[in-house]
Amino acid sequence: MYFINEEYINYLIKDDSLNNEDLQKDILFKASEAKGLNLKESAALLNINSPELYEELFSRAKEVKEKIYGNRLVLFAPLYITNICVNNCLYCAFRKDNRKLKRKSLSLEEIEAEAEFLVKQGHKRILVVFGEHPKKSSIDFIGETINRIYSINYNGNNIRRINANIAPLTFEDFKTLKSFGIGTYQCFQETYHYDTYMTMHPEGPKRDYAWRLYAMDRALQAGIDDVGIGALFGLTDYKFETLALLMHAFDLDFKYGIGPHTISIPRLEPALNAPAAINPPHAVDDLSFKKLVAIIRLAVPYTGMILTTRERPEIRRELFSVGISQISAGSRTSPGSYSESKESLDERELQQFQLGDHRSLDEVVRDCTSLGYLPSFCTACYRSNRTGDRFMELAKSGNIGKICTPNALATFQEYLNDFATVETKTIAENFLKNEIEGINGTTRKKIEKMITQVNAGERDVYM
Ligand code: SAM
Ligand code: SF4
Repeated sequence: MYFINEEYINYLIKDDSLNNEDLQKDILFKASEAKGLNLKESAALLNINSPELYEELFSRAKEVKEKIYGNRLVLFAPLYITNICVNNCLYCAFRKDNRKLKRKSLSLEEIEAEAEFLVKQGHKRILVVFGEHPKKSSIDFIGETINRIYSINYNGNNIRRINANIAPLTFEDFKTLKSFGIGTYQCFQETYHYDTYMTMHPEGPKRDYAWRLYAMDRALQAGIDDVGIGALFGLTDYKFETLALLMHAFDLDFKYGIGPHTISIPRLEPALNAPAAINPPHAVDDLSFKKLVAIIRLAVPYTGMILTTRERPEIRRELFSVGISQISAGSRTSPGSYSESKESLDERELQQFQLGDHRSLDEVVRDCTSLGYLPSFCTACYRSNRTGDRFMELAKSGNIGKICTPNALATFQEYLNDFATVETKTIAENFLKNEIEGINGTTRKKIEKMITQVNAGERDVYM
C-alpha cells in the first residue's frame, strides 16, 4: 500500500557489505558530480564512522552545496496562528491533553500585528503554522489569514511569500489553498516508521498514517507546485528516518517529475508536558545529525534544505556548510509572541517547543555575513512563476544561480538600507561590495543596476 518499503530500508541498514570504506570512498567520489545518489549509496554513507571519511563526506557535501546554491542562505520566520489542536502527538506541547499549556488563537487583527512586527524586522518570507482544528484552522480562516498578511505594506516593505505548515487537506481544499497564493505547502511525516507513528499519535485525525503520507500527492495533483517534506528526528533510528525521507523524495520525483521543493530536518526539542520530547526515544547526537544533513545534500542536490532555530547557533553554523539552504531567524513558536510585550506573556506556557537559537534577525544576518554567507530575502521565483518543474529545470541546468545571486544581493541591500543596525551594516556593506566585485560580465552590470535602483529608494527589485 505504501511507497515506504520498511523491509527494504531495514535490509539496507543491516547489509554488512555496505559498511565498507572503499565503497564509501567510491560513492563520495561519484557524489561530487552533484547528480544525486540512490538509496543503497545513501545507506552505505550512513555507515561512515571514521574521522577521515567524515571529513571527506563533509567536504564533498560542501562542494555540492556551493555548486548548486553558492553561498546564499534564504531567511524566513514562522508565524504561529493557533496552538489549539485536536491531536495528541506525544512530542508536542500543543497536544490536546496538555492542560499546562495556555491556549491561544489569533484574531485577524492580532495576525496583522504579528506580521507587521516581522515586516519591521526585515522579513519578506513567512511560514504560517497552525495546530489542527476544524474551526481555528479551517480552510476559510487559513485564506483570511493569508490575505491579511499579504495586505500589509510598511513603506514599500511587505511579506512577499507565505509558506504554510498545516495538517493534510483534501484534494479540494488543496485547490483552494493554492488559490490563496501560498508558496510552499509543508507537512512533515514526523516518523515514517509505522509502529512508532502509531505510538506517537494515539488519537485524532493525525493517527491516519496513510492520509498524511499521501498529502503531498494530493497537493501536487491539486496544482500546488512546491511541497516541503520532513521528519522529526529523535522518534526512531536516524538511519531509518533518513532513508525513508529520501524514499519519499525519490517517489515524488518519479511520479511527478519534481522532487520536494524543500526537506526539513527538525530535531526533537524539549516541550512542555510532552513525554516523547522530554525523553526522545532515539536522540540524535550532533555528529550523526551533521552526517545525515550532508548525505541528504549529496542524495538530492537540488532540493532546498531547511534548518530552524530549534538548533543552537554553533551547530547551525556547522550545518550551513554541509547543505542547508534556508534558515529561520528571530523566531518564536507561540501565537502572539512577536507583538505582545514580554511582561504580558510567559512564552513557555504557550510555545510549541524550546528554541536553541534566540538571536534576533539582525544578529543572525551579521553572523552569516561574517562567516561568508550571503543572506537572501529573495522571493522572486515564486512570483515569476518559476515554481515546480520550471524551477527544477533551471536548478538542474545550473542556471538558477544566475538569477538567484542578483536577487539575493538586491534584497540584501534592501534589508541593509531599511532594517540593519549600524554594526551589521558596517560588516555587510564591505561583504556586499566584495561579492559584487567577484562577479563578471553582464551579470555584474545587471546587479549594479539593481543595487542602484534599491539605493534610489525603489523596493522589491528583482529579475
Ligand atoms: N499541526 C500541524 C501538523 O502537525 O502537521 C502543523 C505543524 S506543527 C505545529 C509543526 C511541526 O513541529 C510538526 O510537524 C513537528 O515536526 C514539529 N514539532 C512538534 N513538536 C516538536 C518538538 N518537541 N521539537 C521539535 N519539533 C517539534
Ligand atoms: Fe497538533 Fe501538530 Fe502539535 Fe501534533 S504536532 S499536537 S498535530 S500542533
